[in-house]
Amino acid sequence: MSGAPSIVWLRDDLRVADNPALAAAVERGRPVVVLYLLDEESAGVRPLGGASRWWLHHSLERLGEELAGLGGALTLRRGAAERSIPSLIEETGADAVYWNRRYGAARQTDAALKSRVIDDGLEATSFQASLLFEPWTITTGAGGPYGVFTPYWKACMNRAEPREPLPAPTRIEGIAPGGDALADWTLLPTRPDWAEGLRETWTPGSAGAHDRLEEFAEEMLADYHRRDEPDLRATSMLSPHLRFGEISPFEVWHRIRYGLSAAAAKNRDKFLSEIGWREFSYHILFHHPDLATRNYRADFDAFPWTTPEDAELDRWRRGRTGIPIVDAGMRQLWRTGWMHNRVRMITASFLTKNLQVDWRTGEEWFWDTLVDADEASNAASWQWVAGSGADAAPYFRVFNPELQAKKFDPRGEYVHRWVPEVGTDEYPEPMVDLRESRQAALDAYEAVSAAR
Ligand code: FAD
Repeated sequence: MSGAPSIVWLRDDLRVADNPALAAAVERGRPVVVLYLLDEESAGVRPLGGASRWWLHHSLERLGEELAGLGGALTLRRGAAERSIPSLIEETGADAVYWNRRYGAARQTDAALKSRVIDDGLEATSFQASLLFEPWTITTGAGGPYGVFTPYWKACMNRAEPREPLPAPTRIEGIAPGGDALADWTLLPTRPDWAEGLRETWTPGSAGAHDRLEEFAEEMLADYHRRDEPDLRATSMLSPHLRFGEISPFEVWHRIRYGLSAAAAKNRDKFLSEIGWREFSYHILFHHPDLATRNYRADFDAFPWTTPEDAELDRWRRGRTGIPIVDAGMRQLWRTGWMHNRVRMITASFLTKNLQVDWRTGEEWFWDTLVDADEASNAASWQWVAGSGADAAPYFRVFNPELQAKKFDPRGEYVHRWVPEVGTDEYPEPMVDLRESRQAALDAYEAVSAAR
C-alpha cells in the first residue's frame, strides 16, 4: 500500500468497532497512523483525575493490542494538539486527518486545527461517534437549546432511529512513526497503589465493555425497575466504558433495542432514557462549555456556600461523616472508582445542602476519583443535585439520607458491606444534625431568594 498516510486522532473513542474516523481512514486505502495524544495543555482540556488516568492506561494497552492484531499500531505522543498534530503531519507526510467529534470547550482547539489543516490544502474530517444525537441538531420550537429533559428526549425520539454500528475493520495497514512508551506516562498510581479495588471491579477495554453489555442485557436489565437499590446489581456499569468510548452509544442502543427477553424488554425504554440523560448532559455542555465551573442558573451566583476546614471535608471524602449511607457511598467510590447513582445523589445532596459546600468542591472530588468522570455528566449532575443546574431538583429538595436508606437499602446490606463498623464504638457520631443542617440550608436559600 502506498501514498500519503492518513492520521486517525483518537480521543474519547478508544475502540476499533463503530469508529467512523478509523473506518474512513481504512476505507481510503492508504497507510494509517493511529494516534492517541496525551494533551494536558490545550485550551479547554481538563487534565484527567487519578481514577481516569488508571483507566486510560489499561484502555490504551488493550487498544494497542487490538490494533496490532489487525495489522495496525497505536502511536502515543504527549503535548498540545495544536503543535503535535501539525508536526506529526509534517513528519509522516500525511495528507488527511480524521477524528470523532468532542463537545466540550476543547472543540475550539479542534475547529482551529481543522481550519489550519484545510488551509494547508490537506483534508481534515470529523465524525459523529460519541453521541446518538448531535447537540446542535435538537432544538426547541423557537430554535434554541432545551433546558428540560422530558421534551428534549421526546424530540430525540421523534428523530430517525440512530444509525447501525459500523463493523470493525478486518485489516489496518498501520504505520508507527515512533512515540512514547505507555509506562513513561506514569498513569498508574505507585506509592501508594490505591488501585486494588479498581482492578477487582473493572476490565477496561472494548472486550470488557461488550461483556458488560451482554451480561446486562441477558441478566440485569430484567431487574432494572429496581435500579435504585444500591446493593442490587441491576444497572449496567457501562459508564466508564462509554466515557472512554470503548463501546459506542450506537452499539448499546442497537443491542438493547432488539432481541431481549420479555422481562428485560419491559425496562428497555427506561434504560434508553438514562442513555438519554447522558445525551442531555452533552446537549447542556455544548451550549454551556463552562458547566463544570459556572452555575447554569445565574441566580445561584449569590448563594452563601460555606468554606469548610479541610479536615471536615475529608470526613465526607473518606466516608467518615457518621451518616451510614453517605459513608457507604463515599467508600464505594474510593475503593472501586464508581458509586451507585442513587447514592451519588444522596452524597451530593449531603455535601451541598447539609454541609452547604459549593457543588464545585464535590464535582472536583468526583472528577478525581470516578473512573467514569465525564465532563458533561459529572458537572450536569452536580448542578442538578445542587439546584443550580438544568432541569434541576429544586434546592429545597434536600434528600434525607436516613429515609433514603430505609427506602432503598431496607436491610442495610449496602451500608454493612461498605461500613462494617456501623453501630459499634468505632463508628463516628454524625458530623451534623440532619434536621438542623437541613433547616440552615433552607434558610440560606430563602435569604438569597428574598434578596432577588
Ligand atoms: P445505568 O443505569 O446502567 O445507565 C446506563 C448509562 O446511561 C450509564 O452508563 C451512563 O452513561 C448513562 N447515565 C445513566 N444515568 C445518567 C445520568 N443521571 N446522567 C448522565 N448519564 C447517565 N455519570 C457519568 O457517566 N459520569 C459522571 O462523572 C457522573 N457523575 C455524576 C455525579 C453525580 C453527583 C450524580 C448524581 C450522577 C453522576 N453520573 C455520572 C450519572 C450516573 O450516576 C451514572 O451515569 C451511573 O450511575 C452509571 O452507572 P451505570 O452505568 O450502571 O448506569
